[in-house]
Amino acid sequence: MQAFDPRTRPVDLTVDRAAGAFRIAWQDGQTSVYPLVWLRENCPCAECGEKRHGGGQEDATGMIRLDLPPSYEVSNAVLIGNYAIQFEWTDGHYAGIYAFTDLRRASEEGGFDPDKLPPMQAAKETR
Ligand SMILES: [Zn+2]
Repeated sequence: MQAFDPRTRPVDLTVDRAAGAFRIAWQDGQTSVYPLVWLRENCPCAECGEKRHGGGQEDATGMIRLDLPPSYEVSNAVLIGNYAIQFEWTDGHYAGIYAFTDLRRASEEGGFDPDKLPPMQAAKETR
């Protein structure tokens, strides 16, 4: 575990389905808002990462995958220890684990403006 850092420590987590947003109140007093659409489009799981980086439409067997549009509605959210949150979407996808450090960094880069969130960079991807 990392040393205690109030910037990446949530005190309150809210999925606001009506607003289509996920809100984190941080220990240092800041509040971050993440549109659910942004969260899904930045899903950090390997499968979604491949799709974003132009993974082919055909898999190894030559079958064309039918890509249904992803769901932007959260059916469940689960805390992973005290360092991450995992969302389950109404289409059944649940592989993405969102580290609070990554969420916080994206929010800071966007000036805490939910309309200016940059693509989320997972820290672990940088080797
Ligand atoms: Zn995913």
